[in-house]
Amino acid sequence: MPRDTDDLSEYRKKRDFSRTREPQGGLSGNSAGIYVIHKHASRALHYDLRLELHGTLKSWAVPKGPSLNPTDKRLAVHVEDHPIEYAGFEGVIPRGEYGAGSVLLWDRGFWIPEEDPDEGMRKGSLKFILSGRKLGGRWALVRLKARAVRHDEGEDKDEWLLIKERDIVSKMPRSIASNRTINEISEIPEGVWSATGEAAPVLPSGATAQKKEMPKAIRPQLATPVDAPPEGDGWLHESKDDGSRKT
Ligand code: MN
Repeated sequence: MPRDTDDLSEYRKKRDFSRTREPQGGLSGNSAGIYVIHKHASRALHYDLRLELHGTLKSWAVPKGPSLNPTDKRLAVHVEDHPIEYAGFEGVIPRGEYGAGSVLLWDRGFWIPEEDPDEGMRKGSLKFILSGRKLGGRWALVRLKARAVRHDEGEDKDEWLLIKERDIVSKMPRSIASNRTINEISEIPEGVWSATGEAAPVLPSGATAQKKEMPKAIRPQLATPVDAPPEGDGWLHESKDDGSRKT
């Protein structure tokens, strides 16, 4: 896909690259699917979610950061595209510069759109899978209907919600090894899938398991106090005082 050359104009306009060490951008972005979250201690601490699309990083400022709880819908303000090199940026933006404060790489990995991401950006609905060091699984970004809400700073904001999808286990029930469901595995109890091709572990020869009722209680083996040490050659004796050990 051709790169939209205007994608970074707003990003560059806001920054003085003779003062800030943030990347200016310009590398061709053929490395597809980078995902990153920055923790950014600027005026207000927030998290910046960035998803690579056509050579730049689509970016959302998430004031509270992501949540693994599907009922926590986190506000995500769509901000200007950032250059692909920003995925490797961690450091300090100098005082007085745009976004002044410390930037920490909180998570990084890859993202996989589940639907056409261009259409998703237009329609305001992105569904995707994250594969990062910290975050994984299915996520959604959904644009709020009442977009372009006026805020006190007089800036129009493009507000979305970042949501952890609830149903990862029900939507993706199959084994990543054998592509079977749990029912399909149950149907063939003797069938064991092994990644290495080795036979399934078996009991040592001669050992036969006996079917018994599950015990209601298991008694631990306890030491028994006695008055005299046992006799015979099969014992080693060691004197012991409480709190110290003589060797
Ligand atoms: Mn930020």
